[in-house]
Amino acid sequence: MAENTNLKLSSGPLPAGATPMNVAGTLINMKLVPLAAPATTPPIQSVPSSSSVVPLPTKAVQPKITAEDISLDEVIICWDCETSGVNPWEYQWLVASFWPIDTPKADMVTFASWDEEEITREVAEYLNSFDSFAMTGFNTAFDIRCMSTRFMMYQVPVPLFMSSTFYDTRDFFKKGTWKYVFSDQASGSLEDWIVWLYDEPKPYTIEECFAGLREDNMEPLIIRNRWDVGVEGDVFILSKYIEEDLERGVSQMKPTIMQRTEEEKEGNVVVACPVCKTLNEYELKNASQICYVCASKIVRPTSKEYLEEIVRPFVAPKESTKKTTAAK
Ligand SMILES: [Zn+2]
Repeated sequence: MAENTNLKLSSGPLPAGATPMNVAGTLINMKLVPLAAPATTPPIQSVPSSSSVVPLPTKAVQPKITAEDISLDEVIICWDCETSGVNPWEYQWLVASFWPIDTPKADMVTFASWDEEEITREVAEYLNSFDSFAMTGFNTAFDIRCMSTRFMMYQVPVPLFMSSTFYDTRDFFKKGTWKYVFSDQASGSLEDWIVWLYDEPKPYTIEECFAGLREDNMEPLIIRNRWDVGVEGDVFILSKYIEEDLERGVSQMKPTIMQRTEEEKEGNVVVACPVCKTLNEYELKNASQICYVCASKIVRPTSKEYLEEIVRPFVAPKESTKKTTAAK
């Protein structure tokens, strides 16, 4: 029998030709009668005509905030680990990059090896060369676990790492929902935020990275890892910037044409790498420079290639809103 959810069972006199239902030897007159019409969902209230057009916030392609714009009272190392899986007792640690964010992004250091003990010892030596530091990443707990378990496995002391302050840019996006109310708002992936903030998708998908690994090619994973560390650092700096001084943050988040021209005169522009498309700061005094992610050569850009501001794509108002607008 086809399901008809608009009918319900009701007792009472049967229509002509119908037979009673036999329930455990007792005959009961049952018939199907239509349900009352379901309450319709109230129409979504039209927004006032003055704001009936979907707001069009603009965004800076590259919020130009650098470590110089924030006060750092400690060395902040931005870092990220790549592994062959999710669980520390199952995966192999393959790649890690570290960027002390007060140094040029292109000086980011990457360790990669098919030999896990080797990468563990090299990373430990690198971290032990610092006098002090704090660390920041995205979903940092994963990376802390990765490194601390390997330091244990290979018995490599890294005292500063174990006592370090760790920041997590993912936590930043949860602020407010943690402090006062509990909420299941999505924290978003790193890529979600970076595409929104910088209009810059990751150079490789994780599937492409694993396809590379199966062919003994670690390059896609290394490039993805360096991209992660670079943008994690950018977002960390940005989050610190707005925490420090609201007035300054607001003016700098959306640089005016005047400011952009000033930056251009000072010789810093933003260009996309021709190979991996990662946004790089380019010093115009150079004839060419190297992409911080994939090390490809970037030649001096023309003014048309500078990335400045774009406007979010216009979202057409829904039909009902359109009518409201037309009736105005
Ligand atoms: Zn590149």
